[in-house]
Amino acid sequence: MKIEKEIIKTLEKESLSPEELSKLKRKLSKKYGLPMPTNMRVLQFYHKKGGRDEKVVSSLKTSPVRSLSGVVNISVLTKPFPCPGKCIFCPLQKDAPKSYMKDEPAVMRAMLAKYDAKRQMEIRMKALLMTGHSTDKIELRIVGGTWSYYPKEYKEDFIKKCFDACNEEKSSTLKEAQKKNEKAKHRIVCLSIETRPDFVTKEEIKEMRKMGVTMVELGVQSLFDEVLHASSRGHTVKDSAKATKLLKNAGFKVCHQVMLGLPKSTSLKDLKTFEKLFKSPSFRPDMLKIYPCVVLREAPLYELYKEGSYTPPSDEELFDTIKKVKRDIVPSYVRIQRLFRDISSKSIAGGSKISNMRQVIKRDAEKEGWECQCIRCREIKSSPVKEKLKIRTRKYKASGGVEVFFSVTSGKKICAFLRLRLKKRKTAIIRELRTYGKQVAIKKKERDAQQHKGVGKALVKKAEEEVGSGRMAVISGVGARDYWRKMGYRLKGTYMIKDL
Ligand code: SF4
Ligand SMILES: [Zn+2]
Repeated sequence: MKIEKEIIKTLEKESLSPEELSKLKRKLSKKYGLPMPTNMRVLQFYHKKGGRDEKVVSSLKTSPVRSLSGVVNISVLTKPFPCPGKCIFCPLQKDAPKSYMKDEPAVMRAMLAKYDAKRQMEIRMKALLMTGHSTDKIELRIVGGTWSYYPKEYKEDFIKKCFDACNEEKSSTLKEAQKKNEKAKHRIVCLSIETRPDFVTKEEIKEMRKMGVTMVELGVQSLFDEVLHASSRGHTVKDSAKATKLLKNAGFKVCHQVMLGLPKSTSLKDLKTFEKLFKSPSFRPDMLKIYPCVVLREAPLYELYKEGSYTPPSDEELFDTIKKVKRDIVPSYVRIQRLFRDISSKSIAGGSKISNMRQVIKRDAEKEGWECQCIRCREIKSSPVKEKLKIRTRKYKASGGVEVFFSVTSGKKICAFLRLRLKKRKTAIIRELRTYGKQVAIKKKERDAQQHKGVGKALVKKAEEEVGSGRMAVISGVGARDYWRKMGYRLKGTYMIKDL
């Protein structure tokens, strides 16, 4: 333990960069003739001794990027349950929720916890804590099957258990658990679910709000009806537009899942889907997840593949389409959340097995001298703010309203943003407020971190000025309600509101 002790002694005095820390470890390992300990080991030793100094923990974080978006992400899976969909590309495996594969890391974790929501949360939170990440602010993703099709009692209980895990105590109702979470140590500041466009109705939206959902991932897949039909999606392009509008009007953040290379699609049609997605005001999602269609033995598409009536797109075709999307189509108000999925290549009978598409395209872009304008590619991450911060305003029409996207930038980098939705004669609504950079625990401040330094407040002020008079609403995650209270907002129904 000599090395661990000396490392901690040094870190208590000064913060070290990952390179400096490695150098110190090498030096000590030579000095004592002992193997170099991992950061995790040092951290465990520190925690065991009761050490809690943020400076020490922060230097020992194993993967700092996990909390660089300001919050930590936790995904939990709902139990296997039937889905009304008959999508031919969708796998069905015993013991895994529809559309998920047993060898996906998130599924393996969920299976270990027997799909118990509380257990899954506890395991993830513990793992994050062990690797030095603060779990004060959690972005919770509930995945697995079609959320809207699960029985209401199951859904309520599942979400209550997630809150119970964060509150570190059991509540008797979901409402009680949510109330407790407003002041809890681990707060759920964003809660997302995934569903089908044709399941989004006004009633469903009301239910989602009661449960504390703030973001919805919609399986849009393609903007060509013949492509949707050929995959037996069971919904139309019109359904996707309608669902997007209903969700945005209720203040939700909307992520569209798009699938490339579906039966009856072509590279050109895939590209046209993206063009239409942003040219037409009926779509314009806030976020995107792009997946290639792959052939899995457990999906009906496998039969078509075997008989030769379906050929998945090649890596080159996919690469070409995604490159064009990133270079020429994606606007600066969109965040590309994800390219491709965590499916093990062993399960893929046909189609792309590339898992590092993002990096490959990035390298190409650097060579060709262009940059993707999406939010994710511009996030400030851990780089220090060098240039003066500026608030930029971008307005665009979307789903029958006007969206105002305010962003705080430093040079080409984005440090924070706010999405405001305006609708004639209706309450204006803040759909998202986010600060990037190193996560800072609530009530603590660090020299080089963006959060809690008034950037968020400046954006809210700007949004309030834009609206001028009347009423402003915020779709706030349950765990962020207190933040809004400090700015004069109060809880009304399931929204935070303020009379301007
Ligand atoms: S709706 Fe989703 S989960 Fe259901 S069959 Fe289609 S892809 Fe699978
Ligand atoms: Zn990007």
